[in-house]
Amino acid sequence: MDELYDILAKENIFANEPMSKHTTFKTGGVADFLVIPQSKEEMIALLKLNVPKTIIGNGSNLLVKDGGIRGLVIKTTGLNHYQIQEEMMIAQSGVYLSKLAQEAKEHSLTGLEFACGIPGTLGGAVMMNASAYGGETANVVVETEYADFEGNVHRVTDHQFGYRRSRFTGSDAIILESKLQLAKGNYDEIDAKMQEFMKSRNAKQPIEKPSAGSTFKRPEGYFAGKLIEDAGLKGFKIGGAKVSEKHAGFIINDGGATSTDILALIQYVQDKVKNEFGVDLEPEIKIIGES
Ligand SMILES: Cc1cc2nc3c(=O)[nH]c(=O)nc-3n(C[C@H](O)[C@H](O)[C@H](O)COP(=O)(O)OP(=O)(O)OC[C@H]3O[C@@H](n4cnc5c(N)ncnc54)[C@H](O)[C@@H]3O)c2cc1C
Repeated sequence: MDELYDILAKENIFANEPMSKHTTFKTGGVADFLVIPQSKEEMIALLKLNVPKTIIGNGSNLLVKDGGIRGLVIKTTGLNHYQIQEEMMIAQSGVYLSKLAQEAKEHSLTGLEFACGIPGTLGGAVMMNASAYGGETANVVVETEYADFEGNVHRVTDHQFGYRRSRFTGSDAIILESKLQLAKGNYDEIDAKMQEFMKSRNAKQPIEKPSAGSTFKRPEGYFAGKLIEDAGLKGFKIGGAKVSEKHAGFIINDGGATSTDILALIQYVQDKVKNEFGVDLEPEIKIIGES
């Protein structure tokens, strides 16, 4: 892939890169090439290359299989510019949600408090309609610029957000930038809300262990964590993968887990919950790569 060196500085090109370095599960095989474009122009030039491409943000909702990823993995975190214009925030897709939430607070803008503890990028949040504590991406994102795999750029205001989905889910769209409509608020109230959310997360979620957040979507009428707990699976382990004792909705890497361990545990949990309660658990995390 010599073309990569025409587009990017060589410090942003990583050959045979372990995906365990780029996922919050800290598992996953090797990517042939992982690249971190630093501008929209570099991103668009990469999209025009005729090779298989995979887009990732911070890898906080991803399970990459142990066989890794062929072709090019494009990580968006170099697209990290943002600006605030009155009550509007315009941010590139690779900016961390926690950064945007802090910036909003500093400007006494309300609307992003929910996002302060979500360890992903704006692009990942728009793709998945990330949500927490009654707030969701859908409530603040009003416009998005995206590119397709030919490198053509489009703008949309109709995001078709739903539970853990948007118009971009399952498509070849690469989110480049979004506009967020916030509102003037009170600094102390925003700060208090964010502290309360962080306190609740620390108390309830196993954030001290590698994971990808909630493993499963919320099944209609149930809570995944409660079903898993009621099936007696809290603390259940396969290899280094474990159902968290703190929150059964999280599968964690308890040390030395492979993605194969995590996949086997996901399957085991799905089978047990189906047998005991007749409920299908669908993974929320995106499973990609080769076995
Ligand atoms: C401890 C912990 C707590 C969490 N809590 C929450 C929570 O409260 N609420 C919640 O909703 N989620 C939560 N998550 C999950 C995760 O952080 C979010 O889903 C986040 O939005 C994913 O962003 P990311 O940048 O890490 O995306 P990635 O995991 O890198 O990617 C996720 C998907 O989005 C796609 N994608 C990413 N960026 C782009 C882009 N620019 N263009 C096109 N596609 C893109 C990827 O291809 C992939 O399909 C949590 C995760 C952890 C580890």
